[in-house]
Amino acid sequence: MPFASLGLSAPLLRAIADHDYTEPTPVQSAAIPAILRGADVWASAQTGSGKTAAFALPILQLLSSSPRPRGRFVRTLILAPTRELAAQIADAILAYSRFLPEPIKTMAIFGGVSINPQMMDLGGGADVIVATPGRLLDLIEHNAVSLAQVSTLVLDEADRLLDLGFTDEVNRVIALLPAKRQNLLFSATFPSAVQSLAAALLHDPLRIDVPAEPATTPDITQRAIEVDPLRRTQLLRHLVQENKWPRVLVFVATKYATEHVAEKLRKAGLNAQALHGELSQGARTRVLADFKASKIQVVLATDLAARGLDIEELPVVVNFDLPRSAADYTHRIGRTGRAGESGIAINFVSAGTHAHFRLIEKRHHLDLPREQITGFEPEEIAAPLPPPSTGGIKGKRKSKKDKLREAAGLPPTTPSPATGDTTILPTNQPTSRAIEPNESGELFPWRPHQTSVRRPH
Ligand code: AMP
Repeated sequence: MPFASLGLSAPLLRAIADHDYTEPTPVQSAAIPAILRGADVWASAQTGSGKTAAFALPILQLLSSSPRPRGRFVRTLILAPTRELAAQIADAILAYSRFLPEPIKTMAIFGGVSINPQMMDLGGGADVIVATPGRLLDLIEHNAVSLAQVSTLVLDEADRLLDLGFTDEVNRVIALLPAKRQNLLFSATFPSAVQSLAAALLHDPLRIDVPAEPATTPDITQRAIEVDPLRRTQLLRHLVQENKWPRVLVFVATKYATEHVAEKLRKAGLNAQALHGELSQGARTRVLADFKASKIQVVLATDLAARGLDIEELPVVVNFDLPRSAADYTHRIGRTGRAGESGIAINFVSAGTHAHFRLIEKRHHLDLPREQITGFEPEEIAAPLPPPSTGGIKGKRKSKKDKLREAAGLPPTTPSPATGDTTILPTNQPTSRAIEPNESGELFPWRPHQTSVRRPH
C-alpha cells in the first residue's frame, strides 16, 4: 500500500519522499488512517518498526488543520522514557513537518539541563511537546505550560516508562489532561502494568500487533564468545582492531564501568567514550553526535543511556556485561541491523555468567555455539549445566526435596547430567537465529509473522 493511499496531505507526502521512504511499514499502514480518523490506538511496536512516523505524520496532519489556541497550551503531548528518545522524536517531527504551510512548534523537554530556557521557549505554548514525565511536571508546577487543551496524548515505549519507575508521574500527567482526547500507546511489550495502563487510558482502541515482515527482518548475527572477565577489555580491543569495525556500541553494567573501560581503550589507542545517565545532557548529545559522525569508534553505554538510540550503520553491538533480562537483550541487540543493514551482536560469556546467558538464550529459543578467540581462551571453566529445556525457568529450581537432601549432604533425587553445554566448540562460525516470542508473549521485530490488526472486544 503506498503512502499516498493513507490519507496524508501533500506536504507530508513530500517530507516522506524527502526521507526516501518508499512504502509504509506495517505499523504505519495500520496506525496512520486510524489516527487520522481520531481513534485511540494500542500498538505493539518496537524501535525500528517505524513507529515514530506512524504517530507523528497523522498528528502533524491533524495539527495543521486547526489553529493553536492562544496561551501556554500544548496540543499534542508525547511522553517518552529517556532524554535521547524525546530529542529523537522531536527531531523526527521537525523533519516531517518541514513542508507544512504553517510551522508546527515542537519542543523536546527533559531534565538534566537548565529549566529556564525551556520555560522561556514555552512562552506562547507549543503545538507538540515531547517530554520525559519529571521535567514536564516541574514545568507545570512553574505554570510554564498547561495541559488543559491537549487533544492527543502519545505514550511512547510505555513499557520502559513504567520499568523506569515513572508510573506515578505518568498518572499525575494523565490526571491533568482533558477528559476528551485521543490516546495512542506504543509499547514493545505488554506486561500487566502496561495492560492496566492501557485499559485505564484507551477508549475502544484499534489494537495493532505488528512484528516485522520477513522482508524487513533485521539480519543480526548473534555470537557468544567465552572470555575471562579480566580479559574482556583486551579482547574487545583486539576484535575492534582485527575486524576494523568503524562503530561499535558496547554495553556495560554500570556508569563506573563505562568510564573505566573507555579509559582503558583510550590508553590502548582506540577512540572510545562513555555514555551514561549521569553525564550532562550536553555531553551525552556530543558523544552521540560524534559517534554518528564517526569521530568516536567505540561507545561504552549503560542500558538507560542507549535506550531507543537510532544509529544508522551500527554494525556491531557488544554485550561486555550481559543484560539483566531477556527483554533488555532484545533492546540492546536491536540497536544493530537496522534499516535493512546486517549487524553483529556479540556476547562475552564467562564461567560466572554462563548460567545467566543460558537463561537469556532459553527465553529467546537460542542455542549459540560458544566461541573462543585464539590468545583469549578462558582459564576459568563454567560448571556444567543441563541442556536447555522447554519448560519454564522454574524447571531449573531445585525441588524442596532436593534442597533438604542437599542440606543433609545427600545427592539430589535426579542425577545431574554428566555433560553440560560448556563444551568449548572449536568453531568461529557465527550463528544467526531468528528470535521467537518469549514466554511472556513478547514479540520482536525480527520475528517473521503475519501482521494482524484487530479491535479488542
Ligand atoms: P522508529 O521505529 O520510529 O525508531 O524508526 C526506525 C527507523 O526507520 C528510522 O530511522 C526511520 O527514519 C525509519 N523509517 C520510518 N519509516 C520508514 C519507512 N516507511 N521506510 C523506510 N524507513 C523508515
